[in-house]
Amino acid sequence: MKKVTCTAPVNIAVILLGGKRNEELILPINSSLSVTLHQDQLKTTTSIATSRDITEDRIWLNGKEDDINHPRLQSCLREIRRLARKRRSSGSEDGASRNLNYKVHICSVNNFPTAAGLASSAAGYACLVYTLAELYGVEGELSEIARQGSGSACRSMYGGFVQWLMGEREDGKDSLAQQVEAETHWPELRVLILVASAEKKHVGSTAGMQTSVKTSPLLKMRAESVVPGRMEEMIESIRKKDFESFGQLTMKDSNQFHATCLDTFPPIFYLNQVSQQIINLVHRYNAHYGQTKVAYSFDAGPNAVLFLLEPTVNEFVEVVKHSFPPAPNGDPFIKGLPVSPAPLSQELTTAIEGDACPGGVRYVIITQTGPGPAQSQDPTLDLLGADGLPRSSA
Ligand code: ADP
Repeated sequence: MKKVTCTAPVNIAVILLGGKRNEELILPINSSLSVTLHQDQLKTTTSIATSRDITEDRIWLNGKEDDINHPRLQSCLREIRRLARKRRSSGSEDGASRNLNYKVHICSVNNFPTAAGLASSAAGYACLVYTLAELYGVEGELSEIARQGSGSACRSMYGGFVQWLMGEREDGKDSLAQQVEAETHWPELRVLILVASAEKKHVGSTAGMQTSVKTSPLLKMRAESVVPGRMEEMIESIRKKDFESFGQLTMKDSNQFHATCLDTFPPIFYLNQVSQQIINLVHRYNAHYGQTKVAYSFDAGPNAVLFLLEPTVNEFVEVVKHSFPPAPNGDPFIKGLPVSPAPLSQELTTAIEGDACPGGVRYVIITQTGPGPAQSQDPTLDLLGADGLPRSSA
């Protein structure tokens, strides 16, 4: 039996995907750009086994068997096997264990809530494609295949700062992800995820986007006239590590994306009252300092992702606790990278005064930029047992 285990990261868009021009191949109407988050905090782990004794493809997701016939899952399996066949016919295949007639058992877990607006589909499909490629010994450009699982998964194939070029071709061959800068480029950058809700989403982003593409004139205008210039400016601000510019562009892009949601008919509301309070809080905080110290981005859901530099983290975490006093349920409110207490000055407390909203933020994850997918060498991470079935802990 051949078994491979890999891990893959979540990514957070700072220039957001507005909609798709081709649903089947998942081709976007605009390019997008994201920050890959560190796998120490959020990651998918996937183990895949293949052998003569495995007679049907099966998948287990977070401990439960899932539908292997999901069309997007099937696209990824088909495309990787096609590449593997191509490789074999070119004579470079090594080892009978890579026999393509064998079926696979896939077992995957996310160490964070699935389908709750934390980009599990991006990490999940990136991990699936990367692990399949390792199993079959397929090399080369894989983001095009990950894209066919979940659009944003193509950006999780690289670490650091990543752009997904929309491409022009109808077959999608040029709709790929590319690393803009590696994860080591901007070591002071930190990311706070304010989980407003860890429940499953109400409006699926795919259905929402389809309606937006059909009905929103603003979405079309944004894709054609705003995003191309904004991509260039964003790349420039990342290269220069210019937080003022990076933060402003991030917030403006998030706001414009949600404006296109309101411009959709019937409209879509991803932001809730807590999201709006977070937006106001960030603007009040920045106004107090007369500069952009914190920036927010919201994708298709109410969770806020905040970007800031390391020296701001301790104080801003206190600000969040002050404005959204944690519910006394005993669960940790702050997860991820460590923070130290930081007293808030009277002037700052006055400047950020709004309606305190106890329990509005369920918890905060503190993280930073991190590397792309990698094969694990740690056998304790293997989710499949020697029989090719999920271990009891998976
Ligand atoms: P999210 O906001 O978490 O990305 P979505 O509803 O967009 O939520 O996507 C969730 C879907 O992504 C799941 O129902 C599943 O089909 C897929 N998915 C999530 N995690 C994994 C994984 N580890 N491996 C394979 N597919 C996954």
